[in-house]
Amino acid sequence: MSLDILLEPVPDRAVVRLCKVGKFHTDLPEQYQVALDQLIRVAYQDGGLTDEELTDRLRKAGCDVGSTVVRKHRKQQCACVA
Ligand SMILES: [Zn+2]
Repeated sequence: MSLDILLEPVPDRAVVRLCKVGKFHTDLPEQYQVALDQLIRVAYQDGGLTDEELTDRLRKAGCDVGSTVVRKHRKQQCACVA
């Protein structure tokens, strides 16, 4: 038993429902958020990264995520836009 649980803040519901990429983005300092937004927005066809390349970068940055989640986030088919 730990009474400290009573002191923990109520979770931000808007963040709780985000996908893994969205949650990771939320915790980043602003300059990294801007960079990640750019990587997500620019499609491979337009000179950007493939979903797999972006997944690899996210993993190296500490975001434990799979390419399916990354693909859905890029297509705005994830919980972030629900
Ligand atoms: Zn998302």
